[in-house]
Amino acid sequence: MHGLDSTRIPPSPRDSMGGGKAGSRLGSVARKVEAFFVVYREHVAWVHALMFLCFLALLAVPPFLPDPPENATPISHFTEFANYVMWGVWFPLVFLSVIFTGRSWCGLLCPMGAASEWANRRGLKRAIPRWISWQGTPIVSFLAVTILGQTVGVRDHPEAIAEVFGGTMAAAILIGYVYGRNKRAWCRHMCPIGLLLGVKQRAILTPLWG
Ligand code: SF4
Repeated sequence: MHGLDSTRIPPSPRDSMGGGKAGSRLGSVARKVEAFFVVYREHVAWVHALMFLCFLALLAVPPFLPDPPENATPISHFTEFANYVMWGVWFPLVFLSVIFTGRSWCGLLCPMGAASEWANRRGLKRAIPRWISWQGTPIVSFLAVTILGQTVGVRDHPEAIAEVFGGTMAAAILIGYVYGRNKRAWCRHMCPIGLLLGVKQRAILTPLWG
């Protein structure tokens, strides 16, 4: 797995945004963070591997554990810990990192994008078909994951978390393996989280430029 590479990572919504003091300060922090990781990109594969293993542990271990008792806490039971990390730490950090450090989440930390890119290096590298590059694909993907998540109770059941996030990870790897030549086809066209990050960032940052 390789590190930050602007030819693979989908463009940040920040890239297309206007000026303003707050915007340029955030943009400068983002550029510094990205530059730091570009310099040390040889080591980024280790960060990707670590994130991938953490992600797998959070998804795969809880379904095999006994149900947590009523008074269980993130300290006393791993299922509660995994749930807390996923919804209380992981997701807020994703959104914060996008606001303050641009594409660093996608390039440096996201295990899904890294796994998809890793698969692409060893994959078939077929041309990206139109059903993937269609503009509405990320919206369909977002709706599908959201409806599936709501249906199976993704916030409350460890099996459901494993199903939804494990399924999304499997799809990212499969798409990466089959399609794109040295591009993250999944990230550019299908990632429901990427879509959410773009919308969220616009929603938060637009008033700063208003
Ligand atoms: S899978 Fe989504 S969140 Fe992860 S790197 Fe790709 S676009 Fe970003």
